[in-house]
Amino acid sequence: MNLLVTAGPTREMLDPVRFFSNRSTGKMGFAVASVAACHGHNVRLIAGPVALATPEGVERIDVISARDMLAAVEKNLDGCDALVMTAAVADWRPCHENAQKLKKGTMSPVIELEPNPDILKTIAPRKGKKIFVGFAAETENLLAEAQRKLVEKKLDLLVANDVSCHDSGFEVETNRVIFFTPGNPPEHLPLMRKSEVAERIVEWLGRRPS
Ligand code: C5P
Repeated sequence: MNLLVTAGPTREMLDPVRFFSNRSTGKMGFAVASVAACHGHNVRLIAGPVALATPEGVERIDVISARDMLAAVEKNLDGCDALVMTAAVADWRPCHENAQKLKKGTMSPVIELEPNPDILKTIAPRKGKKIFVGFAAETENLLAEAQRKLVEKKLDLLVANDVSCHDSGFEVETNRVIFFTPGNPPEHLPLMRKSEVAERIVEWLGRRPS
């Protein structure tokens, strides 16, 4: 299969030295890319700013902001069989990106934000027979939020995790996830290494609905 994987956070610049982002390290998406390449798939990895080495056999495209990531996904979508959107895309960006560093003394204490485009929703009209996999990182109402995102983002698989646990989600090697697929009860997976979660996702892609 030709796989397109996104990973890591996006960074929304306020000025040349300050930005809005989140705690994503990219580990989950890099694990998916690495495992998929080991299984012989062609993998293109669109990575936000992360401190991780490119997995062997993977073609990497680096991006900074959500709009950069959207442009890279749009450019690389044709010809891919599956898109795995592991990235923790920032929902908001500052309305104005200042060319020079804002001065502490003159800076406004209120920063105006505007919403970023939702990448999955934007590309949904181009889905066709492609498999779309999304992730959901939640701190509450995990089951309801995951079910809503599965439907709203027109996903074939949504991998949900509770990021309020110390051993699951951001900045750790392990994850405890639930697989949501349309028309089926949620499948709860035990705590496992991110590489093992990646194996389960790649296995699922191998048995993908046609
Ligand atoms: O942020 P949210 O919980 O809505 O993310 C769920 C899924 O949607 C993830 O797979 C994420 O990569 C994707 N997403 C996106 N564009 C955004 C925000 C999230 O494609 N602007």
